[in-house]
Amino acid sequence: MIILDKVSKAYNKGAPALNDVSLHIEKGEFVFIVGDSGAGKSTLIRLLLREEIPTSGKVFVNNTDLSKLKHRKIPIFRRGVGVVFQDFRLLKDRNVYENVAFAQLIVQKPAKEIRRNVPAMLSMVGLAEKYKARPKELSGGEQQRVALARALVNRPPILLCDEPTGNLDPKNSWEIMKLLEEINRRGTTVVVVTHNSEIVNAMQKRVITMRRGVIVSDEKKGGYIYED
Ligand code: ADP
Repeated sequence: MIILDKVSKAYNKGAPALNDVSLHIEKGEFVFIVGDSGAGKSTLIRLLLREEIPTSGKVFVNNTDLSKLKHRKIPIFRRGVGVVFQDFRLLKDRNVYENVAFAQLIVQKPAKEIRRNVPAMLSMVGLAEKYKARPKELSGGEQQRVALARALVNRPPILLCDEPTGNLDPKNSWEIMKLLEEINRRGTTVVVVTHNSEIVNAMQKRVITMRRGVIVSDEKKGGYIYED
């Protein structure tokens, strides 16, 4: 599902952001990627989305060799990877329904399917009743739920979350994590980059720890001490 084979990424002459990293994530896994700032986590995410290309080594996502991916095929490749960010990135002048429907319009889903899929996805994230609200009328936790519904409405096999609870209080953070667990239980492979050691330690999932561009530990039921 996700394979990095001896991947290095150097931006300039300094130490590489990733240094000979190899990694396998299987279909259906739930994985935390942790590490202090500068460890290379964002670089890893950008490589998985084909926003960057490695200096050396190979990256495979959803059975696609990203080094062989033609430019015009990048948008289709990205449909297979849902993404959520710390800052939600919703369309501010659109309501909840329109924010989620937008992802389906881009992939040219028929109107009839959109009318079925969007409410179904909004109920999954517990926001069916708020479909008319604008993002600014929602709490941070609710905005992240909309972002999740938008990331998942096209049914990507992989969900990447970059600090999904970075702007949320502990209660909302836990609710988002429980939702991610449920999404994973239903079959989506979930990869979460986070600094939230309390959540990582409580959830007992696979934890990949990075430091200065290398993987320093990879544990089946791992933990994390945040040292920044
Ligand atoms: P993390 O997400 O774990 O904080 P990053 O992947 O952002 O780590 O950064 C890893 C290293 O690569 C850092 O030393 C950072 O300064 C460097 N880096 C990241 N992005 C760029 C870039 N676009 N240009 C130059 N250096 C970068």
